[in-house]
Amino acid sequence: MLKRILEHNDKFVSERKNLGLDEPISAHANQEVMVFTCMDTRLVDLVEKSMGFERGDIKILKNAGNSIRENCDEIIRCVSLGAIMMGLKEVFVVGHKDCGMKKLTTEDIRAKMIDRGITEDTIDSIEDLAEWSGILKDETENVINAVSKIRESQFVPNDVKVHGLIIDPYSGELEIIINGDEN
Ligand SMILES: [Zn+2]
Repeated sequence: MLKRILEHNDKFVSERKNLGLDEPISAHANQEVMVFTCMDTRLVDLVEKSMGFERGDIKILKNAGNSIRENCDEIIRCVSLGAIMMGLKEVFVVGHKDCGMKKLTTEDIRAKMIDRGITEDTIDSIEDLAEWSGILKDETENVINAVSKIRESQFVPNDVKVHGLIIDPYSGELEIIINGDEN
């Protein structure tokens, strides 16, 4: 895979250079927006376009199941820094239909961890495997939970608008779960 990537990269870089696309652009988000979504492969190149954003417009965060777990502050750290240091004014949590994180079970995860050489001691050191893995019960409830966690965080300024949406991973249609303009 690495060899294929590097071969492609040679062509990619020279084509961009020929087209004049290699000029520096701002590292700041033109639209002052952060999107937090799932790492699902079907969303690659879909979420941004479905919302009308291009390169340079937004900051994007992804994890498995776009979830903010009980003891996971990594997403909050990024939202907080984005708002305070990078001028972001709106956050969109974008969940999606048919999320793989809803199909996982702790039994499967445990069995596959053991298969792949993770020791039982290591697995047993996890207090709650379902919570650690971020298994979802419901995509909508999960979006509502992530929006609430961001809104309630003392590290995120109160003037940051937080919205919750669900995207269809095939049609790209967006459904509003929480409209941050209204509350
Ligand atoms: Zn997902």
